Amino acid sequence: MSFQDEILVIGGGVIGVSAAYYLARQGRQVTLLEADEICAGASYGNAGFILPSHIIPLAAPGTLGQGLKWLLDPESPFYIKPRLSLELISWLWRFRAACQQQRMRRSMRLLRELSHRSIELHQELAGLQGLDFGFQKKGYLKLFKTSQGYQKANAEAGLMREFGIEARMMNQAEIREVEPNILPGVSGGLYFPHDAHLIPADFVLQLGRVIEDLGVKIRTSTEVLGFETAPAKILTVKTTRGNFKPDQVILAGGAWSPSLADDLGIRLPIQPAKGYSLTFKRSANSPSIPVMLSEAAVAVSPLAETVRFAGTLELAGWDQSINQRRVNAIVKKAGEYLPGVEGLELAEIWRGFRPCLPDGLPVIGRSSRYKNLILATGHATIGMALGPVTGELVSQLAAHETTQINLTGLRLERFS
Ligand SMILES: Cc1cc2nc3c(=O)[nH]c(=O)nc-3n(C[C@H](O)[C@H](O)[C@H](O)COP(=O)(O)OP(=O)(O)OC[C@H]3O[C@@H](n4cnc5c(N)ncnc54)[C@H](O)[C@@H]3O)c2cc1C
Repeated sequence: MSFQDEILVIGGGVIGVSAAYYLARQGRQVTLLEADEICAGASYGNAGFILPSHIIPLAAPGTLGQGLKWLLDPESPFYIKPRLSLELISWLWRFRAACQQQRMRRSMRLLRELSHRSIELHQELAGLQGLDFGFQKKGYLKLFKTSQGYQKANAEAGLMREFGIEARMMNQAEIREVEPNILPGVSGGLYFPHDAHLIPADFVLQLGRVIEDLGVKIRTSTEVLGFETAPAKILTVKTTRGNFKPDQVILAGGAWSPSLADDLGIRLPIQPAKGYSLTFKRSANSPSIPVMLSEAAVAVSPLAETVRFAGTLELAGWDQSINQRRVNAIVKKAGEYLPGVEGLELAEIWRGFRPCLPDGLPVIGRSSRYKNLILATGHATIGMALGPVTGELVSQLAAHETTQINLTGLRLERFS
């Protein structure tokens, strides 16, 4: 296939780079605009979990109750900064509505389809010559210490089996067979054998090099400032380094997407949800498969010579500060499940902003307002996992093909 039109991708995170890759593979002329460097946003320091088993969206029954309890604890993994913000209030209202059983199940069906396709694509990309971003399919283990943890895991295992996902409840001895590095306080686990993990920044940066080889023009330090439009069409994209007149525009600006969309008169109900990661030099005691410490809500990933602990979801607007108390709590709580955590040598503390829509699903679809705009954003806690499938779907939308997955439930209009 050969297309003459030029496509402009805004955002150089996992979503923008993946979109550019699948567009370039169609033989399109693509330019990618990035305000900073490639992989400067949430895609840099996340946990790198690629979990087709993780199909329960952020908005699910029980999340609100748990969140409210956590609000009272300054060391908890969840926080809402008290402030009078209409956007936040409206977001929380919609989030509450999305936390119903029926809606969650609808979202789960969609997420199953998206994540199943995405891990196939991840596997394909991992096989490309010259790429090595640490993709490993060793499964994923949720550890718990309490009877409530057991009950939650057991209910999750049942739900997952209903959705055709293999999920094994494990006792201590069984856990030790897949991951020997656990403390005696861990009473059980839930194991998903088909899940994977990778080194997030290596993935995005290496794919960034591949797209350049495919002819994509990458313009870093190029911030999009706004747009000039005609009815139903974007005419010009104005940036700090000149104006662009593309035929089609892909908006993949992560948590920054709402301010870009605002200029187009489009309301994207995305909240930036801050999370932290702490990366340490790996020790002999570090886990060798991805682990979730359930009660603490801390994700632990083995990433080559390092081990990364990630967690916390703060709805605090664009507050860039690092809350030392919450960061310390991540390590303290990890030490209740895993041996040798206190002695680890710290390499990096990082914070990033997840782009969160109120129902926990992304927006992937052509804008109903501008016929040459495609939205690909709002991937919340699963953007690393869904990068490739999002890129593939964007390329199908750009070519006006029928998408491989029905995107009705992912259109922005679901919030109208
Ligand atoms: C602590 C933590 C752990 C996580 N763990 C996982 C995990 O294990 N698995 C998983 O799947 N997901 C995980 N996530 C979520 C994942 O990181 C995000 O969903 C994903 O990175 C979003 O990608 P993105 O490309 O949409 O956004 P980003 O990576 O944030 O990229 C957006 C880019 O747009 C650029 N930009 C912004 N404004 C402009 C502008 N005006 N002009 C040009 N460019 C602009 C930014 O500089 C940025 O580079 C985690 C997130 C956090 C915070």
